[in-house]
Amino acid sequence: MAEQKKQFAVIGLGRFGGSVCKELYSMGHQVLAIDIREEKVNEFARHSTHSVIADSTDEKALQSLGIRNFEYVIVAIGDNIQSSILTTLVLKEMNVEKVWVKAQNAYHHKVLEKIGADRIIHPEHDMGVRIAQHLTSDKIVDYIELSEEYSIVELLATKKVHNKTIVNLDIRAKYGCTILAIKRGEDINVSPMPDELIYQEDVLIVIGHKRDLKRFEEDGI
Ligand code: ATP
Ligand code: ATP
Ligand code: CA
Repeated sequence: MAEQKKQFAVIGLGRFGGSVCKELYSMGHQVLAIDIREEKVNEFARHSTHSVIADSTDEKALQSLGIRNFEYVIVAIGDNIQSSILTTLVLKEMNVEKVWVKAQNAYHHKVLEKIGADRIIHPEHDMGVRIAQHLTSDKIVDYIELSEEYSIVELLATKKVHNKTIVNLDIRAKYGCTILAIKRGEDINVSPMPDELIYQEDVLIVIGHKRDLKRFEEDGI
């Protein structure tokens, strides 16, 4: 069965919202692009299913767009925190199921949490953390922070672990980390067996406590 395509609306077509919109649309999803500025709406006409000029703080305007029927709404209004908060509030009052919002600072985050934003995103902070991780290790291919304590990292296997199995290396017992998947070129092996061989240049996707991941990255791989 073909994958069910989801319906998205993106409000605010700045750099962040614009990238989200373009990427979703290029993946074949239905995307409604909304901005208060006409030039933005014109620019995104060819990167979305529909693009419309609207003030998202205006409840009637959102209603007439049928926004309640969208599964996901992304609020990407950055600088005008008041508009971002008001938009989120209106969307949650209209019972939009999933509202993901870009936050500007800790105060903004706190308010969004209180009014029921389903996910709060800090692109500059998150990207900064990831870039710092890339800069400091040749082995770290990618890094996702799950919480203050836990992360998922993609680590490049060196010759130290070439031709060894997961059980040989005793990774969970020694380092408290779990291998979620192994990428080898275009192939990806999800939930590998303990006797799976690891080769140099494989990318291991590993979950664990940040402290344990650091130990594994420094000594184990
Ligand atoms: P970037 O992602 O580029 O850093 P930003 O976080 O700095 O963007 P802004 O440029 O302030 O955010 O806003 C993003 C977009 O949201 C702008 O194109 C702006 O016109 C739009 N926008 C602001 N207020 C509203 C509103 N009330 N309704 C709809 N769109 C709005
Ligand atoms: P953010 O990553 O928060 O979105 P930004 O991309 O909007 O930041 P700015 O806030 O304009 O960028 O600048 C980031 C920092 O760089 C600020 O702390 C600012 O003081 C500093 N900065 C800007 N210009 C200079 C400069 N010429 N020399 C040294 N520091 C500078
Ligand atoms: Ca910005």
